[in-house]
Amino acid sequence: AVGNGRKYRIVVLPGDGIGPEISKVALDVLRCLGPEEGIEFEFQEKLLGGAAIDAVGDPLPDDTLEACKDSDAVLLAAIGGYKWDNNEPCLRPERGLLGLRAGMGVFANLRPAIVLPQLVDSSTLKREVAEGVDIMVVRELTGGIYFGQPKGFGKNSDGEPIAFNTEVYSVSEIDRIARVAFEIARKRRGELCSIDKSNVLEASQLWRQVVTDVGKDYPDVKLTHMLVDNAAMQLIRDPKQFDTIVTNNIFGDILSDEASMLTGSIGMLPSASVKTSGPGLFEPIHGSAPDIAGQDKANPLAMILSAAMLLKYGLGEKQAAERIEKAVTITLDNGFRTGDIMAPGKKLVGCTAMGEQVIKALQAIE
Ligand code: ATP
Ligand code: MG
Repeated sequence: AVGNGRKYRIVVLPGDGIGPEISKVALDVLRCLGPEEGIEFEFQEKLLGGAAIDAVGDPLPDDTLEACKDSDAVLLAAIGGYKWDNNEPCLRPERGLLGLRAGMGVFANLRPAIVLPQLVDSSTLKREVAEGVDIMVVRELTGGIYFGQPKGFGKNSDGEPIAFNTEVYSVSEIDRIARVAFEIARKRRGELCSIDKSNVLEASQLWRQVVTDVGKDYPDVKLTHMLVDNAAMQLIRDPKQFDTIVTNNIFGDILSDEASMLTGSIGMLPSASVKTSGPGLFEPIHGSAPDIAGQDKANPLAMILSAAMLLKYGLGEKQAAERIEKAVTITLDNGFRTGDIMAPGKKLVGCTAMGEQVIKALQAIE
């Protein structure tokens, strides 16, 4: 391919545990892809999480947040580990991640849950239920009960200690997440299922009303509504009925984990956190896997597929993204597996070797 000089500044946050190993592999893949697609990447590595606590005593250094806000997109591996588990709250790695999401203002969390044909047997579901599952969960990430005021601890009128949280959503918060979801559904199979608890919760009634209103701008997308308890059941009973799901912060937290567990391959799943304009944050859904860190055992595919999401949803480089997805498919077709997705008759490889196979496949694609 001949380049037309598209140039992007990417902040890379390797973080902790297996983070540095899988970051190295993903960057090698992007470096190989760039010239093929006529894209130039400028990578800038920054500290986040435990690594940042150790180096500068802050899980989210100012210069990390500034660089991220100033970038075209951010690629994050994973943060955290045993070493920092007993730290005081402000010196925990997770604080760095929450601060980064809030600081970047990324309100839409996109979590694909796909059962690849090569990995059907990794799924926790029966083969006939698992085959062909391809769901995108769009979760509202910066509002709802996790942030609503008032919240706290107190006493009721009898003097008994109580604790309380408040679910708050504004029309504009619902409107913007609904639009992200409709745009995505439109580019997929054209079906959007909005999940709420509108039979009990006022915030869910507003949610359903605003999503329905936004739907009038997307007559080509088939909108349905489902109550969250039913959705939790339907995801296990017949996951293929779902194309794109949109839901609030807390329901999305739970349902996206449920959906990803159906696939049985935590080392395979990417995610994106985006806003209407400005840089997005792209990261695998798995954690820093301290139990296998430094052993070259980690599956780098979730990180590589996060880089593909960065290209597609962060930079609008759809063709380059699809090239990576195809290279991953070819690598699996060629029988290469890391330990977490190993099956009889397949070839066991480590993190680095898996990356090399993806690059080989990438170079073989016309
Ligand atoms: P967090 O709280 O940060 O989400 P966690 O403790 O919930 O972390 P992970 O760090 O994701 O969970 O690890 C859960 C299990 O999955 C571990 O046994 C880990 O080794 C495994 N695992 C996670 N990611 C990978 C990967 N990329 N390749 C192989 N195994 C992985
Ligand atoms: Mg976890």
